[in-house]
Amino acid sequence: MKLANIRIVMVETTHPGNIGACARAMKNMGLSRLHLVKPARFPDNEAFARAAGASDLLDQAVVCDSLAQAVETCGVVIGASARRRSIAWPEFNPRECAEFVAPQSDEVDIAIVFGRESSGLTNEELDCCSHLVHIPSNEAFSSLNVAAAIQVVCYELRMQLLQGEGVQGEQAVLDQLATSEELEGMYEQMQQVLIEIDFLDADKPRKLMRRLRRLYNRTALERREVNILRGILSAAQRQARLAADSQ
Ligand code: SAH
Repeated sequence: MKLANIRIVMVETTHPGNIGACARAMKNMGLSRLHLVKPARFPDNEAFARAAGASDLLDQAVVCDSLAQAVETCGVVIGASARRRSIAWPEFNPRECAEFVAPQSDEVDIAIVFGRESSGLTNEELDCCSHLVHIPSNEAFSSLNVAAAIQVVCYELRMQLLQGEGVQGEQAVLDQLATSEELEGMYEQMQQVLIEIDFLDADKPRKLMRRLRRLYNRTALERREVNILRGILSAAQRQARLAADSQ
């Protein structure tokens, strides 16, 4: 397990104190890579004050314009959500999340994404995520402070590290997972083909693409598998165009 390949992404954090508390929580647990998507105030004295001895993480924090940019190179993107969603993404609790992440982190970059204090993550941002992690808190009062949520998730990652690499054998046979960018390319092509073969109505897409993402996300697609699927899509597209031309 490589904690160095695991990044924490905070999306549009309002309070710089939370960014500092996050840096401290991460460093306590041995994580070091912090990405900030459009933070309201950063750098900021309050962030450094709350980080205590973890200001090095703030110095190295990467500030991004969009979530897509923050997770571009990642093979696994997990969104932390305080709420259950209308379409259930595959959902972990923090322990299951850490068990899943541990073997993958040897191979690919991994992002765990935390939302705004006021409103969490949007559905579009969740579309960038292959899985959700939910801390099974009191259902009547489920939302933790964002830095506290990060602490819980990072603690479970550390526990996995300390437990050693027991689950690695099974995962070692896996090929390299496709990156978020490669998956986005596939979904784009898929949508295009589904429109061309009249399966998807561009004016009434409903939730088809989101449901397909959910289906594929459950399988943790490898790069080679994405290439096969894209090959099939291209072949379907060629046939559809030939059929259209001969009409
Ligand atoms: N009011 C917001 C909650 C924001 S809390 C909402 O209803 O969505 C800020 C962030 O902390 C969330 O976006 C999430 O990433 C994280 N968080 C808070 N509570 C959590 C929980 N129980 N499980 C997982 N993540 C949680």
